[in-house]
Amino acid sequence: MHRWFAAFCCFACLSFATPAQVQNGHNSAQSAPADAKPAATELPKLEKFDPSIVDKTRNACVDFYQHTCGNWLAAHPITPDMAENSTVHPLFLYNQTILRNALEAAAADKQATGSERQIGDFWQSCMDETARNANGKAWLQPALNTIASLKSSRDLPRVLAYLHLNFPAAWQMWNDDDNYTKAPLFGFGPAQDLEDASKVVAGVDQGGMALPSLDYYLDSSEHSKELRAKYVQHIQKMFELAGDASDKAAAEARTVMEIETALAKASMDNVTRRDPQKIYNKRTLQQLKAAVPDFGWDQYLQLMGAPSVPFYIVSQPPFLDAVEQQIKTRSPQEWQAYLRWWAIHRGASYTSHDFEQANFDFFGTTLYGIPQMLPQWRRCVGSTDHFLGEALGQAYVNIAFPPESKQRANQLVDQIRAALVEEIQQLDWMSDATKKQALIKQSATLQKIGYPNTWRDYSSVKLVPNNYLANMNAANAFEAHRQVGKIGKPVDRNEWGMTPATINAYEDPQMNTINFPAGIMQLPMFSGTQDDASNFGAIGMVIGHETIHGFDDQGRKFDAHGNLRDWWTPEDAKRYEEKDKCIIDQYSQEIPEYGVKQNGNLTAGEDTADNGGIHLAMLALEKQYKAQGKSLDTPEADGLTARQRFFLAYAFSWCAAVRPEAARNQVISNPHSLPEFRVNRPLSNMPEFQQAFGCKQGQPMVHSPQCRVW
Ligand SMILES: [Zn+2]
Repeated sequence: MHRWFAAFCCFACLSFATPAQVQNGHNSAQSAPADAKPAATELPKLEKFDPSIVDKTRNACVDFYQHTCGNWLAAHPITPDMAENSTVHPLFLYNQTILRNALEAAAADKQATGSERQIGDFWQSCMDETARNANGKAWLQPALNTIASLKSSRDLPRVLAYLHLNFPAAWQMWNDDDNYTKAPLFGFGPAQDLEDASKVVAGVDQGGMALPSLDYYLDSSEHSKELRAKYVQHIQKMFELAGDASDKAAAEARTVMEIETALAKASMDNVTRRDPQKIYNKRTLQQLKAAVPDFGWDQYLQLMGAPSVPFYIVSQPPFLDAVEQQIKTRSPQEWQAYLRWWAIHRGASYTSHDFEQANFDFFGTTLYGIPQMLPQWRRCVGSTDHFLGEALGQAYVNIAFPPESKQRANQLVDQIRAALVEEIQQLDWMSDATKKQALIKQSATLQKIGYPNTWRDYSSVKLVPNNYLANMNAANAFEAHRQVGKIGKPVDRNEWGMTPATINAYEDPQMNTINFPAGIMQLPMFSGTQDDASNFGAIGMVIGHETIHGFDDQGRKFDAHGNLRDWWTPEDAKRYEEKDKCIIDQYSQEIPEYGVKQNGNLTAGEDTADNGGIHLAMLALEKQYKAQGKSLDTPEADGLTARQRFFLAYAFSWCAAVRPEAARNQVISNPHSLPEFRVNRPLSNMPEFQQAFGCKQGQPMVHSPQCRVW
């Protein structure tokens, strides 16, 4: 299910590790002799903070990020297949290697049945480059034939429903970058009702644009114009690969760009979308029909398998006007062009090399500056994890997340939540009445660690070992039906929105849950066996960050039950905003090396959670040391105090070299600040940091004023 405002901590948001890329890499599953058990690939070493890595030539009080990360970054340049390289990068490889070993074993086991057979077949079909290159274009034909059967706008609901079921991901509304649904024409799927979070209703979202955010369509800078020209060339190229003559392909590409631009003009920007009230517009089916009278809603909903519901939540009503306008004015040929583009675009990564490479050339290299695709095995692991994640998850957990780790992780979360309770009681800006509400909400929060209690059953998905696109279509249709099937049913708080091997975490305001997959409970963030100061500094900040989201300027809007009900008083809000302005100002800045300006209002929620998160982690560590009768400020065996190691482990977990294109894109469209700012800005607000490293007023790591909300 999509979340209205799930807060992702975004470790992975820079990594272009989507299941959508390209090429090369040999087919180890296929080349293994029949029935031979493949040799497991050795797991890579994980990064762990080591005091010897510190760059002593860079003063901790001038640039703590460079002090901690400078040497590591110099020794670890960005590899050609990555948008960034970071201390978390080996963890991506580690997690993916565990999954790879499980997939190769499943594919090689001819006796395998059930979910083992399924993950083996899916993996095999992805790795089978010969079949993909020989047949990939033909595999697209059923979708293109369906689109060719569109003879008037009356056929649009039928063809659109077909694409929404078979290609990703029409239900993924209000997704983690908060821009729009990346599926043709609009997004449709389940939505937890904002006013009664126990219910799942239906939502219609703005969508139908393939570029990452609205600015790409609307911004008037030369750089954006140039990218748009390249985008149109890319669309043309994809049509040509599908067999269209270049004249026709060029005309089709122009049509696609016109339609997407018209949709972009009617869309809500991503800052406005952070306000749930603005995207909570209830419409009955009659009203939907009145808004888009030329679209056969009954037929579309029936084909999607959507039950009838009293109302639909429309994120952006003016967007529907634009949809109607397009339907009214576009010819069947123009619709065919637009929908063909989406089928080819969304199918490209599951067909032959030429499609996948062309897709990567634009969406990987041009937009994100990544020279080459990840090796094929990594793309195939990512794809299998994406589509059959809970079938694969058990293998991961068995190896990487033993019960002792789960227990220690649960304890850490308990300790940080206890620190939050104390913090809430002492806040000077929150009124007593509001504190009471906050504590009720806090105790109702469900914490989920590692993996689901019950694993998803994929047994109805029919897969084959030799048609990757058909497998993707089948797995996608399973997920689309599963998502649409939630409409009208009670909500399931135990469902996970991330797979166990995911290196990320999230807070879900409507579910009132905090969620930490096993994949992130690993080094350099966490180890069941490393010292407490390092665990609290690295994963502790992430836990604190997610926990705070339940109580911040987004969390205030949702009560203990997850209902959209503001539980702050207007005075609390006013005092919060005054305090938060300090953080917004601190982060609003020109970033000359990338030629962009950070909008502190876009990143305010995440920045404030970073600041509060590291503070809560420090409080929890202080409490533990006190209980154990130890001092945080006495040098320990490695010469560092626990307080110093706490901050160093924190900074170390965020060391990342980022390509300029990716950095620019993140600054423009992502609500999370760049890694160096996630380290230096919060620490420059902390007296505990200055105390640990002896920083003086006036030095860059002592921000004036000291911003503090939590
Ligand atoms: Zn966050």
